[in-house]
Amino acid sequence: MADQLVLVINSGSSSLKFQLVDPVSGVSRDGGKVQQIGEPSSRAADHEEALRLAFEQMAESGIDLKSCGLVAVGHRVVHGGKHFYHPTLLDDDTIAELDKLSELAPLHNPPAIRGIKVARKLLPDVAHIAVFDTAFFHDLPAAAATYAINRELAQRWEIRRYGFHGTSHRYVSEQVAGFLDRPLDRLNQIILHLGNGDSASAIAGGRPVETSMGLTPLEGLVMGTRSGDVDPGVISYLWRRAKMSVDEIESMLNHQSGVWGLAGENDFRRLRQMIESDDGSAQLAYDVFIHRLRKYIGAYLAVLGHTDVLTFTAGVGENAAEVRRDALAGLQELGIVVDESRNFSDDKGARRISSDDSRITVLVLPTNEELAIARDCVALLAEL
Ligand code: ADP
Repeated sequence: MADQLVLVINSGSSSLKFQLVDPVSGVSRDGGKVQQIGEPSSRAADHEEALRLAFEQMAESGIDLKSCGLVAVGHRVVHGGKHFYHPTLLDDDTIAELDKLSELAPLHNPPAIRGIKVARKLLPDVAHIAVFDTAFFHDLPAAAATYAINRELAQRWEIRRYGFHGTSHRYVSEQVAGFLDRPLDRLNQIILHLGNGDSASAIAGGRPVETSMGLTPLEGLVMGTRSGDVDPGVISYLWRRAKMSVDEIESMLNHQSGVWGLAGENDFRRLRQMIESDDGSAQLAYDVFIHRLRKYIGAYLAVLGHTDVLTFTAGVGENAAEVRRDALAGLQELGIVVDESRNFSDDKGARRISSDDSRITVLVLPTNEELAIARDCVALLAEL
């Protein structure tokens, strides 16, 4: 049988990531990122040019999208709102519905929709499918999904904890079961997705029961440039006292906060160097990041009651051994013992970093959202 390939597109406000994936073997044939879209220094003035550049790159690698066996374009869409929690075939009607969701996710959904429109224009003959970052958390228990705010207001404006990074949490939780050779429905897991955005989830028997992001991807852990949890009172205080507008406050919390807001740097490699050269702001940023992470780990151990396995994933989780060490240091009474040499080994790929006598297994497991999206796409095509 000829190859079936899926082009996965992750379209952000100023960048477009793409990967051409074989959903069966998991091999990525080509991929890349067009950055700084729309900025004067960029090669791409808009998302259409960015996608054309992606096509050029693939052509240079010898890939002809018309004849390579492309069966679908999978689009990562951040917010699925109340109604979108399955992979969804995109047509004019579904795109119009998605457009409406932009009010719920003004920072994230509009660039994805731009990517969808451009990709449909340039590749009109294949199926375009949206896969939602919120989908996995759609059935979060009501106690975890509900904010304790006025109920009528929340219902009217569809305010709940939606959760994000769901594609990654689901993919990793399934891979964990495979790696441990245990049934997913018998495992209680904590997953820490630590990249530029950071989120944690507690998953009982394959079903998520808690996650750290909420109505938007701003809630929860301290992130690269996002604050994570703050007292909501900070917002009204800044509005009233500093006379900042809502847009300014939102932008500050999303783009000028987190590790970057405290240290002026959000790449953990640079942050480590700064700490080693006694930069006090970098040390504080790191300490705040770790403190919040430990708080969530403790909370999720309590939510689950019994935990079998805790897994680190994404850029920081997979690569920053110090973060893993410091997040779990001194937790032997809670059943977690990290093996120093396993944690600091240069191994890549799925690996165990807990010691043999740790009651809770600790893993590092690379996420692969593109592959998960590609597989969702072919599964949907098979149903049609
Ligand atoms: P995104 O949320 O953009 O998908 P990633 O999961 O790719 O992010 O994570 C990107 C982050 O991972 C970088 O900002 C950097 O802080 C961190 N990172 C990547 N490689 C390393 C490394 N070798 N050591 C420490 N941190 C790393």
